[in-house]
Amino acid sequence: MPPLLPPSTIGILGGGQLGRMLALEARRSGYRVAIYTDEPQGCPAGQFADIEINASYDDPAALERFLSQVDVVTAEFENIPDACLQAVEAMKPLRPGRKAIYTTQHREREKLFLRENGIACAEFRIVETLAQLEAAVAELGRPCVIKTAAFGYDGKGQAKVNADTDLTTAWKPFEGHHAVVEQWVPFVCEVSVVGARSVDGRMAVHGVVENQHAHHILDVTIAPARVSPEVVDQAMELWEAVAVGLDYVGTMAVELFVTAEGHVMVNEVAPRPHNSGHYTIDACVTNQFQQQMRAICGLSLGDPTQHTPAVMVNLLGDVWPSEHVHPDWAPVLNHPRAKLHLYGKASARAKRKMGHYTVLGGSIEEALEAVEQVRAEHSSLRG
Ligand code: AMP
Repeated sequence: MPPLLPPSTIGILGGGQLGRMLALEARRSGYRVAIYTDEPQGCPAGQFADIEINASYDDPAALERFLSQVDVVTAEFENIPDACLQAVEAMKPLRPGRKAIYTTQHREREKLFLRENGIACAEFRIVETLAQLEAAVAELGRPCVIKTAAFGYDGKGQAKVNADTDLTTAWKPFEGHHAVVEQWVPFVCEVSVVGARSVDGRMAVHGVVENQHAHHILDVTIAPARVSPEVVDQAMELWEAVAVGLDYVGTMAVELFVTAEGHVMVNEVAPRPHNSGHYTIDACVTNQFQQQMRAICGLSLGDPTQHTPAVMVNLLGDVWPSEHVHPDWAPVLNHPRAKLHLYGKASARAKRKMGHYTVLGGSIEEALEAVEQVRAEHSSLRG
């Protein structure tokens, strides 16, 4: 298939901020954008789309209407019913393909994929019953962590098993489901790698970045990560192994743990652009959304080089004074090296990702200092 050039139509499954930022990038270059979402009209991505279809992912008629209007389809989130993925793939190129989305939307399938491909990750067992949990904990040792196999993110559906945890009680929320029990990794830092793979298998990877979480949700990304060159090499190699193993096309993120001994292992794979890659919009020659656009349209990838050190800070609904009252954005907007990105969400809720800002610096230290300055000027932005 020849590359899709503007004004071809890019179809996006999902209507959130990742779809919005892809839509912005695609429309800038003259592509048309169609959003398919089960959210109401006017969703974050729909605000920048030519076409917005609001229907369930199980609605074949609506899906067909969407597919008849697009040239290629991508997804901005992974929890898409398999029947929908199959219907899309039967009619239009789906990039990344069903294999990548189906594997990574489910922790059990993802973990088995990593194990089968010899990709370093925390040791784990799959369990379905309390007896299996007891056996797994005995084998893996404490502490360990129980995670739901399906549809978990940002620490949801997880329970840590400590020395004194009663397994019967811990198992209750998981009863009747598959779960993954993972050995606890005493990591010294969490990093991630975002990159893209083209239709012809070429890869362009942004560097390794350092992620700090608050309440299991990404709070700050420091780019580049303050890690050794050996850690960088391992992280990049792991990203490539995952991308090749999944026959990946598009932008993909891999979250990793770094141990005190300098070992790197995969925590999670996201088959899409990632929150920890938002800094690329302001700090890289080609950002993660433009790479996604290029890759899914069958074009060659752009230069992923980071030109300026950057720190990205997430803005959750928690910093909104109330549901419909915005914080005072002056401290961010007045800063000469800060860039504000808001996602156009109708109302703010606790823990909801509402936006982010990126601060550029001559060095990481300078960017971190600037973030402190912005936060000090407006204490409500502290989160
Ligand atoms: P996840 O949803 O799997 O990315 O987990 C959310 C967060 O929980 C991670 O970013 C880690 O901070 C922590 N976590 C998850 N799994 C482990 C593990 N096996 N060992 C240590 N910390 C973990």
